[in-house]
Amino acid sequence: MTVVSVSMPESLLERIDGFADDHGYTGRSEVIREAARNLLGEFEDARLEDRELMSIVTVLFDYETTSVEERMMHLRHEQEDLVASNFHSHVGDHYCMEVFILDGDLEDISTFVGKVRATQDTLSVDYSVLPVEDFAQSLA
Ligand SMILES: [Zn+2]
Repeated sequence: MTVVSVSMPESLLERIDGFADDHGYTGRSEVIREAARNLLGEFEDARLEDRELMSIVTVLFDYETTSVEERMMHLRHEQEDLVASNFHSHVGDHYCMEVFILDGDLEDISTFVGKVRATQDTLSVDYSVLPVEDFAQSLA
């Protein structure tokens, strides 16, 4: 195995070490390896492949973080075919919430979620994915 050096906030490292202790991992490397595998395999779902999917992606950020808002606007323009709808709301005293409705395939949705997650200074990123035809069947 290759030894790599990774920067992360002290608080995250403490949580990783605590998690390793609580769950019987051999150490932080094992926790990080498993987290990486989970992240990379997240969108490997045979039930969702080669199907038309709909997805809701929500992004929360501090209203003073205008760089996030700019990045979200850029993503919307860049992914016009994928983004069916997008709106921006204010929640609480100082938070912005960006909601994207996506219509596309698994690869496109996975790429979009990855780009949103890679945006610096977001507070939370959530998403759900649903096949379009299953949704139609459940209404019938
Ligand atoms: Zn706002």
